[in-house]
Amino acid sequence: MSQEQKHPDLEQLRNQIDDINQQLLQLLSQRAELARAIGEVKKAQGINRFDPVRERDMLDRLVQDNPGPFDDGTIRHLFKQIFKASLDLQQKNHKKALLVSRKRRPEDTVVHVGEIPVGNGAKSIVAGPCSVESEEQVRQVAQALKEQGVSLLRGGAFKPRTSPYDFQGLGIEGLRILRKAGDEFGLKVVSEIVNPADIELAEQYVDVIQIGARNMQNFELLKAAGAASKPVFLKRGMSATVEEFLFAAEYIVSRGNSQVMLCERGIRTYEKWTRNTLDISAVPILKQESHLPVFVDITHSTGRRDIQLPVARAALAAGADGIMLEVHPDPSVALSDANQQIDIPQFNKFMEEMRRAGFVTSSTA
Ligand code: PEP
Ligand code: MN
Repeated sequence: MSQEQKHPDLEQLRNQIDDINQQLLQLLSQRAELARAIGEVKKAQGINRFDPVRERDMLDRLVQDNPGPFDDGTIRHLFKQIFKASLDLQQKNHKKALLVSRKRRPEDTVVHVGEIPVGNGAKSIVAGPCSVESEEQVRQVAQALKEQGVSLLRGGAFKPRTSPYDFQGLGIEGLRILRKAGDEFGLKVVSEIVNPADIELAEQYVDVIQIGARNMQNFELLKAAGAASKPVFLKRGMSATVEEFLFAAEYIVSRGNSQVMLCERGIRTYEKWTRNTLDISAVPILKQESHLPVFVDITHSTGRRDIQLPVARAALAAGADGIMLEVHPDPSVALSDANQQIDIPQFNKFMEEMRRAGFVTSSTA
């Protein structure tokens, strides 16, 4: 004889439980709809969605009316979960509405750097020295890029350095040098701006405004870049979550500048064999979550020259729209990042290998 046959009313009791589950489900859904409606009213009135006083009142009333057998602590815990689920629901709706989200715009954004499209399926390469040091240094790199069919030249003029005693960059003079080399070789130029007040001036020199890892949450800078008429190359903060990264991009796009490229550049972990830890999974996640083009900085993420090719391949295989790398005519005497930049023959070899692997074609880099 089976256990259930010994207790003929078990099935009946289970049926009652099933009925109650259904009722609870309907009630929870109704409750969620009401919470959502309240959220809309609060939004319209500019009131904060989370109201701790109201939550305390509801919990007190529930505990007061608790008929048992659950103790008060359990009732509090269960209802806190229900309250939290309603709040999460409102938060999720909010996320759905992000301008940078694919839910808002399913098709890929193609960023136009002048006449150069980025994120249209072809793989882009941004290359150049860590810092702009001299006209001749930038010219040599620009020429190498031109010869390799790479059209985006990078170089730092305002350098966010860890130590105040390290080379801080040539400032506006650096932007002028970069522009001159860009014009001579027909390249677009990318340079980091660190001060919101410099954005307007920088627009006269650069084709792309870079916002560096250290400034990913410099909200005033993000707002200023959002008001700019040039595309923005936004790097992930070294301790930023993917969500924080997307919100940083949202600051720019919500201010009216839809031309944003995201760049994963490695995050800080305990691992010391690379300068940072490349979060490769961020690439497909960003592509899934957002319609913006995604780059991987293979130089700062690794801090080493010997693994740039496999890392670049991994990035592109993971769905990145492009890569960024540092190239210097004589890295050993570079004024910044001397240990990680590759020289021009190494860059030529790198490009050859990328072409051989089918990741770039000379006309699309
Ligand atoms: C850079 O690309 O010049 C740079 C400083 O990188 P990051 O902001 O990612 O550290
Ligand atoms: Mn650098």
